[in-house]
Amino acid sequence: MAKEKTYDVFISYRRQGGAEKAELTKGELIKRGFRESRIFLDTRSLTSGNYLETILHAVKNSKSVVVIITKDCFKDLPTDSTWVREIEYAIEMHKNVVPVYFDGITGVRVDEVPSCISSLSFENAVIYVHSYADASFDRLVSRLPKEPVSLPKWSKWLIGAAIAGGLAVGGYGVVDHFAAMNLEPGEVYVVDSPSAKSYHLDRNCVTLKNAKHKIKKITEEEAIEQGKKPCKKCYKED
Ligand SMILES: [Zn+2]
Repeated sequence: MAKEKTYDVFISYRRQGGAEKAELTKGELIKRGFRESRIFLDTRSLTSGNYLETILHAVKNSKSVVVIITKDCFKDLPTDSTWVREIEYAIEMHKNVVPVYFDGITGVRVDEVPSCISSLSFENAVIYVHSYADASFDRLVSRLPKEPVSLPKWSKWLIGAAIAGGLAVGGYGVVDHFAAMNLEPGEVYVVDSPSAKSYHLDRNCVTLKNAKHKIKKITEEEAIEQGKKPCKKCYKED
């Protein structure tokens, strides 16, 4: 029997609004050491008879399923949406499902989502921040069970030193914005007070200048859970 084709990542997206982000994600995964042949991204149109079967088979043979979440992607879904079915199947198969929020989305309400996929692990989501695109995709990769390019331990330090010294860094392309901001991937700065409404990437953000409480680091998830929003200065779209 022929060995079945398996994948590291299945990229799941709604055709309407999600195709471009899906292609972007695929490209960024390849840049980070994933093999193109190990990424499943379907680009055919929804016509052929075996289509759904092919798709579900690929889900089954993938380690992780990355779900592209774009603006209004859960709106006016057809009842027989292949996209919803593939997510539902990924959940059923206990795949490592990682949603990625695009278009400035920072959270999804359960009542927006079709009930069959309401157990989608949104707490596992990665928020794509345009001004920190590289760091966003580095985070995504950190949630996918495959070590792509394994960099020696000192390389981050080296890259950090290169940034500090104003040198151009080529090669790996893993310039870590979080490191430049003195943060671990996924961390943010907040003012240690429940009344503080925003979280920040830059410790020296102007809006933090007059903070009356201590400034501490927490994870972006914790900040969002506490109802904080990304700071408009630190997360400026450009
Ligand atoms: Zn800020």
